[in-house]
Amino acid sequence: MRALTEPRLVLASHNTGKLREIQALLAPFGVACVSARDLGLKEPEETETSFAGNARLKAHFAAQASGLPALSDDSGICVDGLEGAPGVYTADWAETPNGRDFTMAMTRVWEALEAADAPFPRHAQFNCTLCLAWPDGHDEIFAGIVPGQVIWPMRGTHGFGFDPMFQPDGFDQTFGEMLPEEKHPLSHRADAFKKLVSGCLS
Ligand code: IMP
Repeated sequence: MRALTEPRLVLASHNTGKLREIQALLAPFGVACVSARDLGLKEPEETETSFAGNARLKAHFAAQASGLPALSDDSGICVDGLEGAPGVYTADWAETPNGRDFTMAMTRVWEALEAADAPFPRHAQFNCTLCLAWPDGHDEIFAGIVPGQVIWPMRGTHGFGFDPMFQPDGFDQTFGEMLPEEKHPLSHRADAFKKLVSGCLS
């Protein structure tokens, strides 16, 4: 496994919710980070069918374009009663002609579960795959999960994306009701990040 020795990396995401979480996770390691948006980099199309495939695609694109090591995140919610959907297509379920609408996407998930008469509790997990890629083409991949259930009606105004409908196992609050400092250590991103730290940052 390759260690990250460079003092700076680019975060290969334009999603401000993810960026906030990743910056908070990286802060204690003294690695300075700049976002792909700040560098004016485009977002490549996510054409792969797995979290790892899309994470690789985004990290290599940013590493090549910036000449810096790049860290990407591909993530999503996999709902058991929907055979793992929306999964890698989580962001797509929120697309509208006027941008992303997560209230609509969460409603779609719940309505699909109702239509399928899915049993309770409605188990789901958030998945996160991180890819750290270097400009020379090398990469390292780390996968994390947090198990829980989807609940309705959605609750909470914190976080982003599907946070208001996801309640992690062992808690009675949704991610949307938790403060960032409560959610971040529990998240699928933190789980993947722990593996990145032990592989590349320690
Ligand atoms: P992508 O990784 O850019 O394909 O998008 C992943 C999508 O999954 C995001 O747009 C969010 O809707 C959702 N997602 C990923 N991580 C989280 C999270 O921590 N909370 C809520 N939604 C998330």
